[in-house]
Amino acid sequence: MVNNNPWERAQKQLQKAARYIKLDPLMLAKLTNPDRVIEVSLPMKLDNGEVKLFQGYRVQHNNIRGPYKGGLRYHQDVDMDEVKALAFWMTMKNAVVDVPFGGGKGGITVDPKTLEELELEKLTRQFTGKIADIIGPQKDVPAPDVNTNPKIMAWIVDEYSKITGKKQLAVVTGKPIEKGGSEGRTEATGLGGVYTLLTAFQKLNMKPKGMTVAIQGFGNVGLYVAKFLQKTGFKVVALSDSKGGIYIPQGIESVEEVEKCKLEKGTLAGCYCIGSVCDLKNIDKLGGKNISSEEVLQLPVDIIVPAALENVITKDNAAKIKAKIVLEMANGPTTQEADEILRKKDVLMIPDILANSGGVTVSYFEWYQNLNNEHWGKEEVFKKLKVKIEKATGEVFDTSNKYGVSLREAAYIVALNRIQKGN
Ligand code: NAD
Repeated sequence: MVNNNPWERAQKQLQKAARYIKLDPLMLAKLTNPDRVIEVSLPMKLDNGEVKLFQGYRVQHNNIRGPYKGGLRYHQDVDMDEVKALAFWMTMKNAVVDVPFGGGKGGITVDPKTLEELELEKLTRQFTGKIADIIGPQKDVPAPDVNTNPKIMAWIVDEYSKITGKKQLAVVTGKPIEKGGSEGRTEATGLGGVYTLLTAFQKLNMKPKGMTVAIQGFGNVGLYVAKFLQKTGFKVVALSDSKGGIYIPQGIESVEEVEKCKLEKGTLAGCYCIGSVCDLKNIDKLGGKNISSEEVLQLPVDIIVPAALENVITKDNAAKIKAKIVLEMANGPTTQEADEILRKKDVLMIPDILANSGGVTVSYFEWYQNLNNEHWGKEEVFKKLKVKIEKATGEVFDTSNKYGVSLREAAYIVALNRIQKGN
């Protein structure tokens, strides 16, 4: 039986790609083990007087190509193996897209929806204090991930600056624009995914118009993938979040209206919009159907986009997938067994470390702007992002052809070659 522990999967991916390029054994040993793992206890008194203990993690996987870089995740299922895998994938991703960073990742085992905002701020500030010695603009630069956002990043800057006695904007990326954030960072991961897909389409001589897409996850990443795909001519037919989803085979009229509806209702379910009127009552008029977050991946569409969490495409549902393309916007959404099943079915897997690298690319732009006291306009950011993503996607396709391997293996080969050269 294959284990779906993400860290073990990451190791297997590394070993496999290392064999193709005869990676130096010392380098392989370095990449097989994170440079440093940190686990901190975060005891806190909640507003109701109850004392709760949270666990915080930061894994610094590798810094051969620059400061450790990677997000912070707040989720009840965060554990050390997940954070280690995510940190490793950051090392690979940053090398694929060629930004001068190593890989890191962190998180807290907490469901932030159970905390009041002030409690979340207290927890974030305590965590920042406990990792302050090991983060910093030239050491390790966190960013948002699942359930973390610009506001949380601003608390980290504030706390870190207090501790070090100096305003240090570049200690994290993904900040609010008025607090040193970059234009376009919010949209970057989703837009980067769309640039990757469009470049793949060019390589494959395919056209977006009318291609149907179903997206799992409607947070930062899922929302912008949906918006930009719709703008580019793809037909977004299904969207889902953790509580369920909507499916309209003829195409969702406007992702923006669904976004507004979700903001009002707190959930996507029932957001069947005709013009600006969104209501479950519209379901029959639109020929729609309520679906679960799992069903969204099995719909009869051309492309599925997992944009929520890892291990959602498994041996149990892989055979039921009807799409011919999987754009992996989440990190690690496909288990190893599922990857093999889909490969045999000739499904094109566009791997996470390439598809979602737009986020860290604009994080790099933000860090650079902070350190150089610059502020670029959104158009400039998007233009630079497009150049980076098209180049990385082109390299991954060329490598896939050269070695006769999948895009996933090719992405690892591109990354390892770059890390081995040290540039
Ligand atoms: P987010 O917290 O903004 O959104 C997560 C979304 O997933 C929400 O809509 C939530 O309802 C949904 N979700 C949670 N559990 C689910 C489940 N079991 N089934 C279906 N949907 C579920 O997070 P995000 O920043 O959008 O990140 C999503 C994924 O993209 C993660 O894997 C993350 O690591 C990856 N990623 C994020 C960025 C970034 O810049 N934010 C960059 C690269 C990769």
